[in-house]
Order: sequence, then structure tokens, then C-alpha cells
Amino acid sequence: MKKKYNLKTQLSLNIALVALLTVALISVVSNVFINRQFEDYVVTRHRQRAESILADLNHQYDAAAEMWSMDFLHALGMQALYDGYIVKISSPQKEMLWDAENHDMSACMQVMENISRKMRERFPDTAGKFSVNNYDLKRNGKIIAQVSISYFSPYFYNDDDFRFLDALNVILAGSSVFSLLLAVLVGWILARHMSTPIRKTAEIAKQMSEGDYAIRMEEKTSIRELDELMNSVNQLAHSLSRQESLRKQMTADVAHELRTPLTNIATHIEAMMEGIWKPTPERLSSCHEEIERIGQLIRDLENLARVESGNFRLDKTQIDLVELAKKTLSSFEADIAAKNLNVSVDGACPDIPADRNRMRQVLVNLLSNAVKYTPPGGAIHVSLSETEGSVLLAVEDNGVGIPQEELPFIFERFYRADKSRNRLSGGSGIGLAVVKAIVTAHDGKVEVKSHFENGSRFLVTLPKTV
Ligand code: ADP
Repeated sequence: MKKKYNLKTQLSLNIALVALLTVALISVVSNVFINRQFEDYVVTRHRQRAESILADLNHQYDAAAEMWSMDFLHALGMQALYDGYIVKISSPQKEMLWDAENHDMSACMQVMENISRKMRERFPDTAGKFSVNNYDLKRNGKIIAQVSISYFSPYFYNDDDFRFLDALNVILAGSSVFSLLLAVLVGWILARHMSTPIRKTAEIAKQMSEGDYAIRMEEKTSIRELDELMNSVNQLAHSLSRQESLRKQMTADVAHELRTPLTNIATHIEAMMEGIWKPTPERLSSCHEEIERIGQLIRDLENLARVESGNFRLDKTQIDLVELAKKTLSSFEADIAAKNLNVSVDGACPDIPADRNRMRQVLVNLLSNAVKYTPPGGAIHVSLSETEGSVLLAVEDNGVGIPQEELPFIFERFYRADKSRNRLSGGSGIGLAVVKAIVTAHDGKVEVKSHFENGSRFLVTLPKTV
């Protein structure tokens, strides 16, 4: 298996590697470039030195007497020798006037040997060697001397040159090491900066997986993506904790919903069995109602399980929502009459492709809520309209309304606003979750607007075409 490094090591190593390559590249390029420039400079300097020897000689020649100052030739030749140039001067008649080798053979040998050794030591591949350059020294077109200057060609470095190159190399190596260390340090700080929040996020995710949903990331970083990651983890923790409390609440609710009718039935039947009560049709019908309540709860749960399971299929046909709304509303006639509610359906919209039974379920749930949460004498208004690509179904009531802080949760399973009120009204917090699942499966959306004690408005938007 591939070896895994932690983020800090990985980042530091990568940054150090990039820095190393960059520094190496810059060093090599600058070294090659500077060396080449320096070589050119030294070659030019040698040529200029030879030219200056010739110019000095020419200058010193006494044309009238056709004579040379021997002292000068000697001084010039020795000076040139110590600079690495071996000079020979002869007259046009090939008569030797001054010869460095004749004058001081051992000094010449030493100079040649020194230069060759240093150059070969430093540049083992050098093809350089001492070579002779012959010049005719002329004045007014007449040859006054023949001069031979030999030096290590194409170029050689003197001690100052070597010192300059050494200093240059030290500076390059020093700045390379310094930039490398700096890169490693910066890389390490950067990596630490990034890895700490990531590691903490991972720890928090682990704690969450072990059931601790109360934990949150409090830290802030200067990196947007990391902040987003930490926010997402916090949101995940928040939503898991909400799911968890809904699940716990649901267990308690279901137990309560089942216990109340079951206790009632048990008390009734025991009393009848012991002969305390006579099994009158009213008492039997009361038991039947309780059994019906249990049945309804089980049906609600089954319904939710079905629509929330990924594999429920829609049986789409073209349906008329206005007609469906009117028909559904008529099934609430008895409750509407009992509460003396003022109900109206208006508006128009084209037929849309939808699963008739499921859409009926949506309408039943929205209307039953409206009926349930609207006090006697209130009003329920269903309206249908269309926009360019969608149809809109609004179910509005002027009932008890939903507190603002509860609005984001009411479409969640088992969520019931104002628990005490809902227990009395018999709701189990499943209806709107079913509505949302069905509408979403139709590629639509459902929204709610409500003010506490001021009525609610549920708006379902469905696409006109498949
Ligand atoms: P329930 O079975 O409790 O009605 P729902 O999922 O249908 O469950 O609704 C969730 C909660 O939303 C309800 O408990 C209720 O508090 C609130 N609610 C839904 N519809 C309305 C409405 N028309 N007016 C006031 N509150 C409503």
C-alpha cells in the first residue's frame, strides 16, 4: 500500500522540493551565465593586455636612433611575465633583443607551471595550453620589431579572478541554502496553519460519528475553503442533533399515541368483562374510534415510510388540480360544517402531469391541517394559478399560524409546532413531511408563510411539463 504522510509533512516536503528545484535551477543558470560572461571578459582582457604591451613597446622605440631602451624592455617583459605573459622581442633582422625565457628560465617555467596547474585543477576538462602569438610591430609602415607573446589560451584566470569566482560561488551557495531553509520554514508554518483546522475537523467528525452532536468547531481561519468546511461540519452536527432529538421525540410520541387509546380500550373492555359496564353500542363505538386512531397513526407511518423510501414510483397522468382540490375539500365537509368554516376554491390552471393519488394525498394533508388549525368561524381559501413554466397551488387559512422560529422545521418528520396543542389536535408531525416528499418527487417545491395567531399560507409549485 502506498505510504501515507500527514498533510503537514506532505505540504512541507512539497514546498521544500519546489524551493529546492527552483533554487537549484536559478543557481545553475546564473552560474553558467555568469561564468560565460566572465570568460568573455577575461578573453577580451588578455587581448587588450597583449595590445597594450605592443603599444607600450611602440611608444618606447627611439626611431631616430633606431634603438630600444633595454631597461624599459626588461621592466616591461618582467611585468608581463608576472602577469602570465611570456614576451620575446627581436629585431626585424631576427636578432633577439629581449627574451623572458633567456632572461629568467626558471621564473618562466614557474609562471607557466603555476597557471597550467591552477587552470587544470579548477577546470579538469580545459583544452587550454600556452600558445604563442606573433606580431610585427610597425611604425610608419616599417617593421621595427617582431614580438611574440605567449599565454595560456584561450584564457586563464589570475589569483584575483579565482578569488572573485570563489566569492561568487560562496554567495550563490549561501543564498541557496538560506532560501531553502526559508522555504522549508514558510512551508512548515503554512502547512501547520492548514493542517490544524483540518485535523480538528476530522476529530470532530469522529466524535460526531460516536454520537456527540453537541460539539462544534469554534475556530476561524484565514482560508475561506477551510472556514466553509468547518461551517459545513457544524451544520451537519446541528442537523444530526435535530434529527436525533426528532427521533427521540417521535419514539416518545408514538408510544404516547399508542398508549392513550390502548389504555382507554383496555379500561372499557375490563369494565364490560367485569359486568360493571354494559357493552352498549356507544361504548363499543368509542372503543372502535380508539382503534381507528391507532390504525390512522400506523397508516401515517406506513405512508411516510413509503414516500421516503427511494423506490416509490409516480404514476403520472394529466390531472386537473382545480377539480381535485374541490373533490378533496368535499371529503372534509363534515368537519367544515362542524366548525362553521368559510371555504372557497378559485383560480384556474392547465392540466399537469402528476400522480393523482399522491397529489390527492398532498391536498388531504394541507387541507386537514388547515381545518385542524383554524378555529370555528375561520376561513380557508384554496387558489390555483400559473406562471410560465409552473402551476401554483396555495392553501391559505386564518387560523392559529406557526411561530416564526418553528417555520424552518415544520416539513421535517415528526416535527410538531406547539407540542401541547398538537397532542390535543391529534397530529403526529408526519403530514407535511409526506407533502414535501411527494412534491419534491414531482420536481416541485413547497413553501410556507405564516404568522403566529395570524394564519398560514402553503404554496406548492409544480412544473407544467414532465
Ligand atoms: P401534524 O400531523 O402534527 O399536523 P404536520 O406535518 O402536518 O403534522 O404539520 C407539522 C406541524 O406544522 C403541525 O404540528 C402544526 O404545528 C404546524 N402546522 C401545519 N399546518 C398548519 C396550519 N395550517 N396552521 C397552523 N399550523 C400548522
